[in-house]
Amino acid sequence: MSNPVIVVHYHELFLKGRNRRFFLGKLFTALRQALQGVPVERIEQPGDRFLIRLGAGAPLDEAIRRVERVLGVAYYAVARPVERDMEALCAAAWEEIESLRFGTFAVRAKRSDKSFPANTMEIESTVGRHLLEKFRTQGRDVSVHLNDPEITCRIEITPGPLLVYARKIPGAGGLPANTAGRILCMLSGGYDSAVAAYHMMKRGAHLSFVHFYSTGARPGESSLHVANGLMRALVPYQFRAKLHRVPLDAIQREIVRYAPEDVRILLYRRMMWRISEVIAKRDRALALVTGDSLGQVASQTLRNLAAVDAVTRMPIFRPLIGTDKMEILATARKIGTYDISSEPFHDCCPVFMPRSPALHASPEELMEAEAKLDIDSLIEMGVHGTTVEKFRYLNGRVEVIQVKPRILADQQRAALA
Ligand code: ATP
Ligand code: MG
Repeated sequence: MSNPVIVVHYHELFLKGRNRRFFLGKLFTALRQALQGVPVERIEQPGDRFLIRLGAGAPLDEAIRRVERVLGVAYYAVARPVERDMEALCAAAWEEIESLRFGTFAVRAKRSDKSFPANTMEIESTVGRHLLEKFRTQGRDVSVHLNDPEITCRIEITPGPLLVYARKIPGAGGLPANTAGRILCMLSGGYDSAVAAYHMMKRGAHLSFVHFYSTGARPGESSLHVANGLMRALVPYQFRAKLHRVPLDAIQREIVRYAPEDVRILLYRRMMWRISEVIAKRDRALALVTGDSLGQVASQTLRNLAAVDAVTRMPIFRPLIGTDKMEILATARKIGTYDISSEPFHDCCPVFMPRSPALHASPEELMEAEAKLDIDSLIEMGVHGTTVEKFRYLNGRVEVIQVKPRILADQQRAALA
């Protein structure tokens, strides 16, 4: 028997106008990258869908797991390949829908191979009649409903075997990866920021990541391995990404030394925002994204969010701002970050945590609290201390390479000039 074929459908909504070719090209690339290492004969595009013809010995379960993650896929189905014969087609269609429960159905054929003797109307009515008779003989109360059927039995007439499928499985949805420009995500080790990253990737953004960590953590307690784990879970959605790792403790010590206790956390965050803005600009990102959710913790009251944001000019996106923790955790489970974020780690933020953090700070108050700090040199300290890891998704696995921070390369170049 021929190898299985996965039929992939996308929503037409994002394909209006001249962008169509661009988006479909990206979706095609994404399917190819996602399936790297799984034998694929070829991926065809006969009209408004993709046909992934798996190669000999391809593991179907693994292929499905990979396709499930591809952003921009509205739904997919595993099709039965059938020999090019009307009787075989009728039998395969029956096998496909016999066990499904429904009251109304339709048969829809698409013919990209015009050499097949019957036209689509003939195929639809022949197969439809056959199915109806089979249901009647079984005493099942099923009727044909062409406009709004509960189940559609789809038939593809393409060169090679005919294809039949009726079970549509929802895909990841959204827009194809890497179609919307670049954003820098502030990734902590917690649940929220990884989920926020996924939401933005799902709208086609390409994310780079920045993680602030404390060097004082004992071995095995560092937040770096959690950030690394989250990257490994997130990278397969967009195939490659950079992680900027910024040591924060020296900066925190300065804040503890020179600023009032109740606004410490907000000042840490203002420094994170400032350093992230520098990194974002260098990385040609146009916005920042965080995992904030309104009122979740003291630093996420409306006033505190606004008082922290006052230090940057870049747009800051917060896709989780109106969501509940339960919804966030459900998404974390779905995208595979939940277990990683559940690991204990040394979070840099609660370090020197004040006993009663300010709930409603104003930008002016925070500016005053920062009066004794040399903000520019603290930014520079953070940026200079940054190291970068590059993640790539290759053959179904995530690879990491350490790269020289750009700042060092720049300095070397300046020294040589
Ligand atoms: P999360 O579950 O993502 O850690 P949280 O509920 O713990 O979020 P905070 O610790 O106040 O909330 O952080 C809010 C947001 O600030 C995070 O979602 C993240 O975007 C950013 N952030 C916090 N800590 C860090 C960090 N160490 N490195 C990078 N970004 C951070
Ligand atoms: Mg956190």
